[in-house]
Amino acid sequence: SRQINLASRPSGWPTADNFDLVEVELPAPQEGQVLVRNLFMSVDPYMRGRMNDAKSYVPPFKLGEPLEGGTVGEVVESRAPGLAEGDLVLHGYGWREQVVVEAARVRRVDPIEGVSPTAYLGVLGMPGLTAYVGLLDVASFKEGEAVFVSGAAGAVGSIAGQIAKLKGASRVIGSAGSDEKVSHLYDLGFDAAFNYRNGPVTEQLRKAAPDGIDVYFDNVGADHLEAAIDSLNTGGRVAMCGAIAVYNATEPSPAPRNLFLAVGKRLTLRGFIVGDHSSRMRDMIAEVGGWLREGRISAQETVVDGLENAPAAFIGLMRGENTGKMIVRL
Ligand code: NDP
Repeated sequence: SRQINLASRPSGWPTADNFDLVEVELPAPQEGQVLVRNLFMSVDPYMRGRMNDAKSYVPPFKLGEPLEGGTVGEVVESRAPGLAEGDLVLHGYGWREQVVVEAARVRRVDPIEGVSPTAYLGVLGMPGLTAYVGLLDVASFKEGEAVFVSGAAGAVGSIAGQIAKLKGASRVIGSAGSDEKVSHLYDLGFDAAFNYRNGPVTEQLRKAAPDGIDVYFDNVGADHLEAAIDSLNTGGRVAMCGAIAVYNATEPSPAPRNLFLAVGKRLTLRGFIVGDHSSRMRDMIAEVGGWLREGRISAQETVVDGLENAPAAFIGLMRGENTGKMIVRL
C-alpha cells in the first residue's frame, strides 16, 4: 500500500520536496482491528501548522512518518465486533491508500441517499461543524444581523455564509480571491461579494456593507480582520476561525493595525477550535443535513485524483485552487 510521509518541514510555502511517496507492507489485522481501504481524504489548512515543529493544539506530524487527516474509507477486513466488510467509515488516517487500525479509531457512517460520502469530510463533517458553531455559538449570530465571511468560497466560508442567510441575516457579504469565485458567491445567495485582490479590503468592505456589519467570520486574518474591525458596528462579534493569510508567512503581519477600535465599539473577538464543539455535531448534521436534502444549501467540492497528487492538492488549497471543499480521491 502507498502512503505519503513528511520528508522535511517546510519553511514558508510548502513544496513537493517536503513530501515522500513510499510503498509499505501492511500487517494483517489483529483481534479488535480492521483493514480499511481509503476512498477519499481531506486536505485542510490546519495541516500546515502540523508540519511545523511547534507546540500547538494538535501535535506536529513526525518526520519520516505518514501525514494524517480526515478520511472516508471502506472496511475490507474486520476482526472487530460491530464493523463488517463493506462498512463505510470515517477516521483520521489519511495520506495513505489503506490502513490497519483499532476499531475504536474509526466511526461507522451511514451512506446518505443522494449525498456523496465526501460530505463527511466537508459540509456534514469538520468544516460544516466549524461553520455552524463558529457562526451560531462563537459569534452568537442573531436573525436580522449583517455578516461578513472571508474565505467565503472555501469549505468553511461557503457554508457559514449560507447558514447565515438561511437563519435570516439582513445582509451576507463574502470575499474571495478571484472574480469567478465572487460570481459563485452570488449564486450561493450572498447579498454582496468582492475579490480581495482587486483593491484594499477595507474600502471594498465599506462599499459592500454601507450599514456596517454585526458579525465577522474570520478565515483569513491580517488585512481582512483589519477591514472587519473598521466595518463592525457597536457590540459586534468576531469568530476567529483561522488566519490563512499568515500560515506561510515568514514575518508577522502588521495588520490589524486598528485593534484599539475594539474598545470604543465594545467588540468581542473570540477564537475557537472545532474539536471543543463536537457535542454540536448531531445538531449540525440534523439541521444542515436537512437543508442539503431539501436543496437549500449547496456544497461544492474540488476533487483531485490520486494519492500521488495529494501534496499538490494541499499546496493548491493554500493558493486558492479550490472552490468549496478540497478532496483527494484515492
Ligand atoms: P478553504 O476551503 O477555505 O481553503 C483555503 C482558502 O483560503 C483558499 O481556497 C483561498 O481562497 C484562501 N486563501 C489562501 N490564501 C489566502 C490569503 N492570503 N488571503 C485570503 N484568502 C486566502 O479552507 P477551509 O474552509 O478548510 O478553512 C478555512 C479557514 O478555517 C482556514 O483559516 C482554516 O485554518 C480555518 N479552520 C479553523 C478551524 C477551527 O477549528 N478553528 C477548523 C477548520 C478550519 P481564495 O481563492 O479566496 O484566496
